[in-house]
Amino acid sequence: MIEQLDELYREVILEHFKHSAHSGELPEAQIRTRGDNPLCGDEVVFYLKMGNGRIDRVRFQGKGCAISQAASSMLAAALEGKTTGEARQVIDTMKALMQGEEPDDAIDLGDLEALAGVRKFPVRVKCAALSWNVVEQGLKDFSTQQTAPSTQATEEPSQ
Ligand code: ZN
Repeated sequence: MIEQLDELYREVILEHFKHSAHSGELPEAQIRTRGDNPLCGDEVVFYLKMGNGRIDRVRFQGKGCAISQAASSMLAAALEGKTTGEARQVIDTMKALMQGEEPDDAIDLGDLEALAGVRKFPVRVKCAALSWNVVEQGLKDFSTQQTAPSTQATEEPSQ
């Protein structure tokens, strides 16, 4: 299917697939989130290291088709340095893009824009969407943990 994409998009996608700057593990990450797309056999794990209210570093590990792995690499690159709110904007924009909407120019999608051509192939949209669905769930779980009442011992010695 990748042969059917515009040449420019295809090159960007293959470059991310073959040589991702963001593949690998991040042991110090506070967020570790995984998911799969059984229709295609794609799997991905994301590691997000948070710092100063921002997503400081992002790495991913996975296997599967070029679209799923390239999308993960592009998303990792796009999210580094963003706040969680900005990350959600990127994710929402990618979902809208896959539905056929034109993205808001104000949102910096980076190389993720190269995935626009994928929406012509509904089966492949699931491959691309795996990455942001996994990260979205990870961010959701993380914010739940942050706001949930702590059941751990407090620093003050209890009576
Ligand atoms: Zn796939």
